[in-house]
Amino acid sequence: AMEKILSAGLLRTQGLIAGKWVDAYDGKTIEVQNPATGEVLANVPCMGSRETSDAIASAHSTFYSWSKLTASERSKALRKWYDLIISHKEELALLMTLEQGKPMKEALGEVNYGASFIEYSAEEAKRIYGDIIPPTLSDRRLLVLKQPVGVVGAITPWNFPLAMITRKVGPALACGCTVVVKPSEFTPLTALAAADLALQAGIPAGALNVVMGNAPEIGDALLQSTQVRKITFTGSTAVGKKLMAGSANTVKKVSLELGGNAPCIVFDDADIDVAVKGSLAAKFRNSGQTCVCANRILVQEGIYEKFATAFIKAVQSLKVGNGLEESTSQGPLINEAAVQKVEKFINDATSKGANVMLGGKRHSLGMSFYEPTVVGNVSNDMLLFREEVFGPVAPLIPFKTVEEAVNMANDTNAGLAAYIFTKSIPRSWRVSESLEYGLVGVNEGVISTEVAPFGGVKQSGLGREGSKYGIDEYLELKYICMGNL
Ligand code: ADP
Repeated sequence: AMEKILSAGLLRTQGLIAGKWVDAYDGKTIEVQNPATGEVLANVPCMGSRETSDAIASAHSTFYSWSKLTASERSKALRKWYDLIISHKEELALLMTLEQGKPMKEALGEVNYGASFIEYSAEEAKRIYGDIIPPTLSDRRLLVLKQPVGVVGAITPWNFPLAMITRKVGPALACGCTVVVKPSEFTPLTALAAADLALQAGIPAGALNVVMGNAPEIGDALLQSTQVRKITFTGSTAVGKKLMAGSANTVKKVSLELGGNAPCIVFDDADIDVAVKGSLAAKFRNSGQTCVCANRILVQEGIYEKFATAFIKAVQSLKVGNGLEESTSQGPLINEAAVQKVEKFINDATSKGANVMLGGKRHSLGMSFYEPTVVGNVSNDMLLFREEVFGPVAPLIPFKTVEEAVNMANDTNAGLAAYIFTKSIPRSWRVSESLEYGLVGVNEGVISTEVAPFGGVKQSGLGREGSKYGIDEYLELKYICMGNL
């Protein structure tokens, strides 16, 4: 697999600053491992504040030229980047499976999904319209201009090594912003390959910089800089809060996509096949390691037994293995710590009266493989209910009334994705409206798309990614009053 990536010239193992591939200034490196095998794939630089400062300086000086180009020029470069990603789909997907573990089919899906944000941004770059406002005095004209916010610091997680970057960098570049990206140290290779393709596409040196290594140090350098005008982050709620607090001193704009605790509510009147298929997809995508993964499956009493039986059968059909194998539908978890978290949640649940109906232990393949698991009779005092498990564990929670389900669903500080399964149109509306979540899937378990706004309420975050709303996150409004006309 690595051969293919090498021959495409897409194995980049240095950071990108001002258009140059660079090592850490002190020569330190970190290993990137394949979670399915433990094999070391590459060593990448362990950078810190000095490299970050240079990346910021490069982004800042490039901001003046990049933001002055016409929208059409920026659009063309983005479109070319999109085309290059699509033409290197296979290699990028391979790289992603190698460093992140997700099955090739999902990796290919992510390449398409990740690329779509760049295509959409290329299109939207030309449609960043301002406004003309009818004046209150007849000798005045009132205008609203939309201008790029400036240098953006983008910090991204390992679970979507490409898409979490493109859905920030695409709109940022479209608006005329320049960017310093810090990908996760677990999955920097996909990010670096994508950055290489950006250079090939003619995105100018300095418009897109990539640094990685000491996360808190890089984060602090971005936060402390007065030149960085915006922080955009996807990751844990804890780190998101730190970044928000750290942005206060220089009053940066902040966009945050943080943890979820997605309820998936199956009502008595649901189409059982649709509900099983939808909740399976919502739960087990990326082995349960997405912030929109169903974290709690609430099932109404009348359908509980029937749903549980059908759902378990579907979960049994999932095939655990190395993501490079064609038949695999469940890859390993990202690392040992992720498995230990799952074990902790399972022990907590069983000690409080839940029953493991399927799985519930490490997979015989070893490493960080875990068995697809279904746990019954979960209640709101368990970690499985209160927090995001981020693994292949489906907790089933019985409920009686619609009101009870909505209350349970909203009984959390998170508010990213929710799913409901029902054939009733009035119930679809009413429940969707009363869920305190940023996204609701009705009879559908996979709903993200570049054309719709993605983001959370409550402690799941601030701002939206994707769609025209996601473009606004990288723009400032300027009011111009022309007087004495
Ligand atoms: P996850 O649980 O998804 O790994 P994290 O929030 O730990 O979530 O990681 C998301 C991103 O945030 C990663 O790129 C990680 O390196 C980075 N990160 C972690 N700690 C900090 C920090 N103190 N400052 C800035 N970035 C950080």
